[in-house]
Amino acid sequence: PFAEGPGVSPARTAALRAEAEALYLGTRPKTRAAAGAAAHLLDGVPMHWMVDWSTPVPLVIAEATGARLVDVDGHAYDDFCLGDTASLFGHGPAPVAEALTRQARAGLATMLPSPDAAIVGDLLSARFGLPYWQVATTATDANRFALRAARAATGRPRILVFDGAYHGAVDETFVEIGPNGRAANRPALIGEPRDLSVLTRVVPFNDLDAVEAALADNTVACVIAEPVMTNCAMVLPQPGFHEGLRDITRRHGTLLLIDETHTLSTGPGGYTRAHGLQPDMFVAGKAIAGGVPASIWGMNEETAERFRDAKANRPDGHSGMGTTLSGSPLQLAALRATLEEVATEDAFAHMNRLADRMEAGLSAVLAEAGLPWHVARCGARVEVVRAPAALMDGRQAKSAHYPALEAAIHLALLVRGVLISPFHDMMLASPATTGEQVDRLVAATRDVVRRLAG
Ligand code: PMP
Repeated sequence: PFAEGPGVSPARTAALRAEAEALYLGTRPKTRAAAGAAAHLLDGVPMHWMVDWSTPVPLVIAEATGARLVDVDGHAYDDFCLGDTASLFGHGPAPVAEALTRQARAGLATMLPSPDAAIVGDLLSARFGLPYWQVATTATDANRFALRAARAATGRPRILVFDGAYHGAVDETFVEIGPNGRAANRPALIGEPRDLSVLTRVVPFNDLDAVEAALADNTVACVIAEPVMTNCAMVLPQPGFHEGLRDITRRHGTLLLIDETHTLSTGPGGYTRAHGLQPDMFVAGKAIAGGVPASIWGMNEETAERFRDAKANRPDGHSGMGTTLSGSPLQLAALRATLEEVATEDAFAHMNRLADRMEAGLSAVLAEAGLPWHVARCGARVEVVRAPAALMDGRQAKSAHYPALEAAIHLALLVRGVLISPFHDMMLASPATTGEQVDRLVAATRDVVRRLAG
């Protein structure tokens, strides 16, 4: 179980894990009791991934404010996970808390627009550049609806995803390149009897020849892509990749959907604005409403026109898109507050300054220890990647994962008062994060890495 990657011995990983586990359990009686008390939740948690963290029993958070967490036993943590990006702008930003309080008194769910609706549309258009927007509840849903709209607009059946990408629990995106080089359902999918590769094509990120070949027969409605792959180990686009992707998709009449749910960390207009991308469709969720369940999907003029035509020319009945709580007054109030007062130029400047400090500090720790790992970066998102050089695609990213080692590192950091994202070494800087917190992260990482590398 302790297969570890270059530079780290299995024995040291096991020792680090055992020591951290003993400390975790020994100093958290209330946390252990909480696990025992959750008898009527499946596996003791409200959402099943919560048992997949590195902890022997789930950490139970009593309070999350700014970039700081306190567990039920009173231990405080510097939070660099930030709800895996949902709280990229800190926990409970004051303008969002105030907007929610105000809106709670004026109605939370009406299935009708509030006066904030038109303002949110204007804010999204000004920020991200596309003229037409819709609100959904999760990034998963926004992607599902955008893919539907793309198929309706183009009249084509297929989509293209990049190997190793994640776009939420969007069934049809769970296709990967198998060991035989062919597209197949991801092996770990549960309750999925369909062969998803019938309508989903999959190619390696950064491989424009493969994109060209996959779009050649003009049956692909849409390419869905993160501008930087952030959900395996971070894979940055090679120079020219996005220009090439845009050119090929245009030539084949395939729409380009950019999913900025994570790469919003780049800056106020996401990676798209910072790098001048020209998507036909755009999705963001998680942090876009300051941690309130809301997501957005947008489209350009031409896509909107084709989608409207498709909507107009179908029989009456349910479109198969939309959910009751989407576009609610609650979401609109949180979106408006986040866009106007929280996700500001100043906030991003602070986040990026702290991410600079993280990148420099962590890179120095890795160099001192002589480990063949490196630090990758996408604005306020920083990741330790367990490979010596930049990754090219999802296959390389998969082979840079060492789950037992990662879990040991995460738990060892946690008992040192530092929380990072589960499943890979990803860290975020929020507007509430301080330089002292970053210094504590770097010091804790140095301590952990020294014990691993010897
Ligand atoms: N898109 C991307 C790029 C994501 O990283 C995620 C979640 N990690 C999603 C979509 C889905 O977000 P949610 O789970 O909030 O629906």
